Amino acid sequence: MLSLATILGERVQYDVPMSEHTTLGIGGPSRAMVRATTPEELVELLRVAIAGDIPYIVIGGGSNLLVADRGVDRLVIKNDATGITAAGDTAVVRSGTRLQDLVDYSLAHGWQGLQRLTGIPGTVGGAVYGNAGAYGQVISDWLEEVVCFDGRQVVSLGKGESRFAYRHSTFKENGFIILELRFRLQAADPAALTGESQGILAQRLVKYPVGLRCPGSFFKNVLASTVNPESLQLIPAERVVYGKIPAGYLLETVGARGQTLGDIHISPSNANLFINGGQGRAEHLWQLAGQFAGRVRDKYGIRLTPEVQFVNLPPLPL
Ligand SMILES: Cc1cc2nc3c(=O)[nH]c(=O)nc-3n(C[C@H](O)[C@H](O)[C@H](O)COP(=O)(O)OP(=O)(O)OC[C@H]3O[C@@H](n4cnc5c(N)ncnc54)[C@H](O)[C@@H]3O)c2cc1C
Repeated sequence: MLSLATILGERVQYDVPMSEHTTLGIGGPSRAMVRATTPEELVELLRVAIAGDIPYIVIGGGSNLLVADRGVDRLVIKNDATGITAAGDTAVVRSGTRLQDLVDYSLAHGWQGLQRLTGIPGTVGGAVYGNAGAYGQVISDWLEEVVCFDGRQVVSLGKGESRFAYRHSTFKENGFIILELRFRLQAADPAALTGESQGILAQRLVKYPVGLRCPGSFFKNVLASTVNPESLQLIPAERVVYGKIPAGYLLETVGARGQTLGDIHISPSNANLFINGGQGRAEHLWQLAGQFAGRVRDKYGIRLTPEVQFVNLPPLPL
């Protein structure tokens, strides 16, 4: 990391606790951390890291991360490149913009298409990476273009090339770093949009009270079409919602609700919600998640996939 200090000087911070940069409030120190405040700066930092053979990770709001207790032996590049510009029905958004700021912007302009994503923490870049969604909407619905850095140059991908699927995009596979997004949105009644958004926010606040230390849903729901018929027979039809079996239902049926390990607690009302009581450790969350996902595998033959991204931790032994 010496070369980083030489190149970036005071911009680099050392031994920053990742627990301060994740909504779970878990994670040991990052060896070095630097902030990018524009897409150009982000590219510059990536070029420095790549040229110096320095492993790195780009993070946004840290709302979908489980970082190891021993920390991150990589350069953490925190994406603070924010800003939205609009022309006609098109909005160009820098990837470090808070998703909520984009939702609020779309509501203020009377654009429909993002109003149901209200309340999802994190950045727009993080949301596109995982194709975040809620209440029947996903971030990619009205997305037209993703400008990203492929490790050598800045390239532009269309929606088709970005291969969006349920909580998936090509960025999970190719490691391209998302810089800027172009959305095309449709006009609708601003009052109706705001009402819809406020209604959803009220529901979300019950599910996720302000200050709850968690990463949202831990496991992805399971696409019923991917489950073999014998396993599907074990699941009541009414539990399959929009073609998906909620991971929370599967975990609940193997006794996960309300379970605790160390200071990690599975919510008594939602078995797919793992909460840090304040002193929680990644090690305990990993064990608890693995234990109940193992029981789901044994009972149903279904292997749950974490929605949360692991940093410096092995995959769950499933
Ligand atoms: C209370 C709560 C509720 C939530 N509810 C929902 C929900 O309803 N629906 C939903 O889908 N999610 C939900 N989440 C999960 C999370 O908010 C989303 O996944 C969010 O989009 C992550 O964005 P982030 O900026 O925080 O990403 P981070 O957590 O910082 O990073 C997540 C991953 O994205 C990568 N990444 C981040 N930025 C970039 C970039 N610019 N280019 C390339 N890769 C990048 C990181 O390397 C990492 O692998 C919830 C989380 C919490 C805490």
